[in-house]
Amino acid sequence: MRGTIVKALSGFYYVDVGTDCEPVACRGRGKLRHNKITPLVGDHVEITVTAEGTGMVDEVLPRSNQFQRPMVANMDQLVILASGAIPVTDPFLIDRMIALAEYKHCQPIICFNKCDLEPAEDLVELYRQAGFQSFSISAQTGTGLDQLMGVLEGKISAFTGNSGVGKSSVLNALCPQFGLKVGEVSEKLGRGRHTTRHVELFRVGGGLVADTPGFSAFDVEQMELIPKEELERTFREFHPYLDQCRFVGCAHVKERGCAIRQAVEQGEIADSRYRSYVRLYEQVKARPQWEK
Ligand code: GDP
Ligand code: ZN
Repeated sequence: MRGTIVKALSGFYYVDVGTDCEPVACRGRGKLRHNKITPLVGDHVEITVTAEGTGMVDEVLPRSNQFQRPMVANMDQLVILASGAIPVTDPFLIDRMIALAEYKHCQPIICFNKCDLEPAEDLVELYRQAGFQSFSISAQTGTGLDQLMGVLEGKISAFTGNSGVGKSSVLNALCPQFGLKVGEVSEKLGRGRHTTRHVELFRVGGGLVADTPGFSAFDVEQMELIPKEELERTFREFHPYLDQCRFVGCAHVKERGCAIRQAVEQGEIADSRYRSYVRLYEQVKARPQWEK
């Protein structure tokens, strides 16, 4: 039987095998250990269920990606929550998360919460133009939550976003099972606790969602940084122009004959996206060699 690990605790792997049943508590086969395979939350696995209703993990299927903090595999989507109302999200934070998700082959979805206060239409449109699924939601009124539910269908997703943007509120609205405390500044108080705590996946409609709302789960600073040469690829709207720059290896920062800069000037690439690229490029470039 095939399933997905939703929790790992005290030597047991809890494997979700479908909407209508409880996860199956499984042990790992000795051969996994021999092959130095450590099953992770998010792993798609092949299991054998015994008569008592417990099971054995026979095999871990190939991973599409893997994250360190938290330790999870196969994140299909990263839902980036932002807000046009207080606390207003700096677009750089959105672009940084997008770049990381793209680098990890994880689909970024951009949601502007608190649309009851501020619809953020311009930003929704900006990210649509750049090639992303982007829409407004409100945890308060329920606007857009159906659409978000639809996006989660059949996928494994994680949520991220700056503190106060409404991650707990949105997750609770989607699925009361999360039971998350709203308005708790968990980022400062509970950082150590949250980062060491084990991640768990919950069923939300037809999808699985990681319970990582209290901190920026996929924090760039804590993760492998994107190599300089690969940064341009993580800005998807740059793709059509990348082979049109005058110089091979153009960094798209100050070079003459740069097709990216020209596209920005002509309004084909959003200014804020380009500025985020340059800021990330400078960071990546400044990184000492030993970190690479
Ligand atoms: P988190 O830090 O990202 O988990 O954010 P919380 O879920 O704790 O929410 C922070 C604050 O924003 C709380 O006071 C929420 O009541 C409020 N909030 C969350 N979503 C909305 C929304 O859609 N509209 C409005 N008006 N307030 C919201
Ligand atoms: Zn260029």
